[in-house]
Amino acid sequence: MLKGKTALVTGSTSGIGLGIATALARQGAHIVLNGFGDVEAPRAQVLEAGKAAGIKVGYHGADMSKASEIEDMMKYAAAEFGRVDILVNNAGIQHVAKMEEFPVEKWDAIIAINLSSAFHTTRLALPAMQQANWGRIINVASVHGLVGSAQKSAYVAAKHGIVGLTKVTALENASTGVTCNAICPGWVLTPLVQKQVDAKAAAQGISNDEATKQLLGEKEPSMQFTTPEELGELAVFFCSPAGNNVRGVAWNMDGGWAAQ
Ligand code: NAD
Repeated sequence: MLKGKTALVTGSTSGIGLGIATALARQGAHIVLNGFGDVEAPRAQVLEAGKAAGIKVGYHGADMSKASEIEDMMKYAAAEFGRVDILVNNAGIQHVAKMEEFPVEKWDAIIAINLSSAFHTTRLALPAMQQANWGRIINVASVHGLVGSAQKSAYVAAKHGIVGLTKVTALENASTGVTCNAICPGWVLTPLVQKQVDAKAAAQGISNDEATKQLLGEKEPSMQFTTPEELGELAVFFCSPAGNNVRGVAWNMDGGWAAQ
């Protein structure tokens, strides 16, 4: 379905970004990976998913907290792949602390990586999408783009911000073939959440299993994690012809979290 298109997924060396990149590759899209850590295993996973379509996989290690590196990454994608047809703004970090104890540098980093980076990639990707009259921008927000949780001030502010940015991007392009939507996951068992499970287990002297049950039980009525694969399929839907007129939505996959 996406043969010939190119998707750039920020923060795709792990977790949800890798799940989305893999699902888009399976549909035949060339992929530009980004993120820290090991690149070879993610690259191999994505190449394997797109093997039947003979996709190309690129990588750029831009730090999403730095506008100049984001500019380099967008130039690299245009030079190597022609243009970015599908932009998935996914890179994100978390820090958990009460507001009066929240480190200022963590606040700045979360706003830069989880919110401002999407402004930069989007402003740089839009002209070519508009010229082609086709584009998909998918912002990985969070259920925390819709509701708050204590001790997550920067994260909740950034995620509410990216839901707002999604609506403005959708509206400014509403009469074109460029759509913008947000995905709002509840708990997904990735390294970002594993750290929170480990912290809970350590703080209360309980097992990892018990901490996981508590974590889900506090917020998620389904008592189950959403998976990167499921989120990947939602991204595929936004890219499908059926998604042509889905504009500016914040679609939660959260096991009922925000329905309460
Ligand atoms: P993860 O830690 O598994 O992956 C994060 C990715 O972002 C990695 O590839 C990492 O290298 C990359 N990254 C981090 N800082 C970066 C930077 N400065 N520049 C470039 N890349 C950077 O996390 P995840 O759980 O897959 O989270 C992905 C997105 O999903 C985040 O935006 C997160 O807020 C959102 N999200 C996660 C959950 C969850 O439960 N895991 C729920 C809702 C939303």
